Order: sequence, then C-alpha cells, then structure tokens
Amino acid sequence: MPDRSFLSWPFFEDRHRAFAESLETWCAKNLPVAHDDVDAACRELVAKLGSDGWLKPTSIDTVNPAPLDVRTLCIARETLARHDGLADFAFAMQGLGTGALSLFGTPNQQRWLEKTRAGKAIAAFALSEPRSGSDVANTEMTAKRDGDGFVLDGEKTWISNGGIADFYVVFARTGEAPGAKGLSAFLVPADAAGLTVAERLEVIAPHPLARLSFDRVRVPASALIGQPGSGFRIAMSVLDVFRSTVGAAALGFARRALDESLKRVAERKLFGAPMAELQMVQGHIADMALDVDAAALLVYRAAWAKDQGAARVTREAAMAKLFATDKAQSVIDKAVQLHGGDGVRKGHVVESLYREIRALRIYEGASDVQKVVIARQVLGA
Ligand SMILES: Cc1cc2nc3c(=O)[nH]c(=O)nc-3n(C[C@H](O)[C@H](O)[C@H](O)COP(=O)(O)OP(=O)(O)OC[C@H]3O[C@@H](n4cnc5c(N)ncnc54)[C@H](O)[C@@H]3O)c2cc1C
Repeated sequence: MPDRSFLSWPFFEDRHRAFAESLETWCAKNLPVAHDDVDAACRELVAKLGSDGWLKPTSIDTVNPAPLDVRTLCIARETLARHDGLADFAFAMQGLGTGALSLFGTPNQQRWLEKTRAGKAIAAFALSEPRSGSDVANTEMTAKRDGDGFVLDGEKTWISNGGIADFYVVFARTGEAPGAKGLSAFLVPADAAGLTVAERLEVIAPHPLARLSFDRVRVPASALIGQPGSGFRIAMSVLDVFRSTVGAAALGFARRALDESLKRVAERKLFGAPMAELQMVQGHIADMALDVDAAALLVYRAAWAKDQGAARVTREAAMAKLFATDKAQSVIDKAVQLHGGDGVRKGHVVESLYREIRALRIYEGASDVQKVVIARQVLGA
C-alpha cells in the first residue's frame, strides 16, 4: 500500500482527499491497460477516463467556470502514474492540449472543452519544432494573414497525441515583433487541409508521438487564441499551470518504485536474512523515501501556491519539476539496483518505470532549462 500520509498535509482540502480516494479505487479496478497498441490504448483510456468523469479537472467547466485546480491535477497525475504511465499520459495531454483554451479561448473555441472533458475528443499541444525545442523564441513556423484568416506553414515535432488528436493548439510566427513577441497561438482541427503526420516517432516509453507538417493550412481568423503576438505568453502561462503536474507524475513513478522496492527487500532473502536487514539496503531505502517526500513537498507547494491565486508560480513550478523528475530518476535507478537481474527484465514494473521517467526530464523544459529559470527568478528577486 503506497504511503498516502501526504494527503493530510495542510496543502489539501477534504475535496482533494475524497478525489484521491475515489481515483485510487478506480485505478485499482481499471489499470494498468495493455500497451501493445499505444494509439488504441490511449483512445480507450481517454474514452474511459472521460466517461467515468476523471477528465473534468483537465479544463475549465464553461457552464460553471472556476480556475483550474492544480492540486487536483497533481493528485490525479501522481495517482495515475503510480498505476500506469499511459493513463497518466492520456489524462495529462487532455489538460496540456486544452490549457490555452481554458485560459485564453473564446466561448466558441471553448466548445471543444465539453468534448475533451467527456473523453470524446483528444487534444494536443504543438509548440516544439526541429530547430526550436528549448529555444521557443526561435519558432520558425509561420502564420501569414490571408484575407479574413491565416495560412500556416512549417513543421512541429515531438507532438504528443500527434496522429490521434482531434485538434492541435499550434504556435506560429505572426511577426508582430522579432523573437518571442512575434508568436501567436491557433486552434487547428486535425482534419484541416494541408495538415499531415509526416512521421510517427518511437521513444523508449512508447506513446502516440509525431512530427507534423503544415503545408498552406488555412484557418479562419476565429482560430486565433488570445491576441496576435501573445503566443509565447500563452504557452508560458499554460506551462506555468502544467509544469508542476509533470513533477507530480514523476512523483507517482518514484512512489511506485519505492513500493516495489519495499516489497522486494522484505521478501528476498540474502545471506540468510531478508535484504531489508542489510544496512546498505536500508541506506538506499532511506534515500528513496527522503527524495519522495521532498519532491512531494515541492510539487504540492507549487500547486497550492497557484491555487491560492498567485499570478505566476514560475520559480515554484520550475523547482517542483526539476527536483521531482531528477529525484524520481534516482529513486527508480535504486529500485532497479535493489531488484538485481529482475530490475532490467523486460516487462518488470521497475524496468518500465526506468524507461517511463526519462522523457520527463526533457519535455516541458529540460532540467537544465529549469535551472536557468530558477536562477533568473532568484537573482532577480
Ligand atoms: C516524449 C516527449 C514528448 C513531448 N511532447 C511534446 C508535446 O506534446 N508538445 C511539444 O510542443 N513538445 C513536446 N516535446 C518536445 C520537448 O518539449 C522538447 O524535446 C524539449 O523542449 C527539448 O527540446 P529539444 O528536443 O529540441 O532539445 P534542445 O532544445 O536541443 O536541447 C537539448 C539539451 O540542451 C540542454 N539545454 C537546452 N537549453 C539549455 C540552456 N538554456 N542552458 C543549458 N542547457 C540547455 C538541455 O540538456 C536539453 O535537454 C516532447 C518531447 C518528448 C521527448
């Protein structure tokens, strides 16, 4: 049984504890799913999570609008990741892909949210390009005014849900100013003429991922999200909400690795006694538990700060993401070590956690980028 004592920390309200409890029960009954066909698995996960009501926190409710509750998003990601990385992915992308619509969308654009919350439409966030991942200000895709609309040309890559999404939130250069101030965000349906999947990308922990080609993709003026030239601000505002949730997913993976290790060291006998009696093993367990608790404190501090109405939580979210993902990598590596040969055996839980965690230290701002962000915030303060 995972340690869930963190739920009694003062960051949470009773509704968070109730949410965590019911999601835990749902996960125990429905997860993990088979990962053989990731497209089909993701579609099914989105449909099931949606029909059972779990996708509601991923975007605003347009009927009774209230700000996104980052603590709920983090609890959901931590819980889902602990049970099944693909379920966490399916949940997370509904949030990241709709974040711009929740925060800046027009009522017409927000009509998509009813579908994404119900698991009836799949969302994606298309920011990265072959020559601009960390360096977003270097975005090359163009969106040129054409009559009463825009024409988009260029490429996006590493796009999660690429190939199965129903729509993409796309960032392109509209040229109001050089660099970051000349970008705008657009809502582009997946069936727009000229939008194609140029390549499907395979990674160490498979999930739907693609490089997309935009060849004279025409969208109406109503596809523009927010103001022209505010694309970078929109992208950063979305990441400000969702970056802490990447830390939460890492925390879920780390907690699972710790749980698996606790079972292993209690059951496995070495030199005539359970492994847990070896002091060096105890040292590993202590380090793992410490990293998990410290990561949880940073993740839920960032989530709580955002929910208290902070305009930006750049420093807190960067710290949460950096620490939780880096430490989860170390916790999982220790779990693999404690499992001996079983730890690297294909299909073992800790082997899949070892693959699942790696990309989290790269996407939504690599660890090095988070350090730059933290240093700027601290030096500027
Ligand atoms: C599995 C996966 C899913 C993804 N999903 C999406 C998605 O849905 N939508 C989307 O838009 N993008 C997505 N991405 C893209 C992701 O955000 C980028 O890969 C990431 O921003 C890094 O960009 P890059 O790959 O171009 O690497 P680069 O920008 O070339 O960076 C390479 C490395 O350089 C170092 N570095 C970068 N900047 C600095 C700096 N300022 N100081 C010091 N070191 C630095 C870091 O170590 C970094 O890892 C995904 C990526 C992966 C791997």
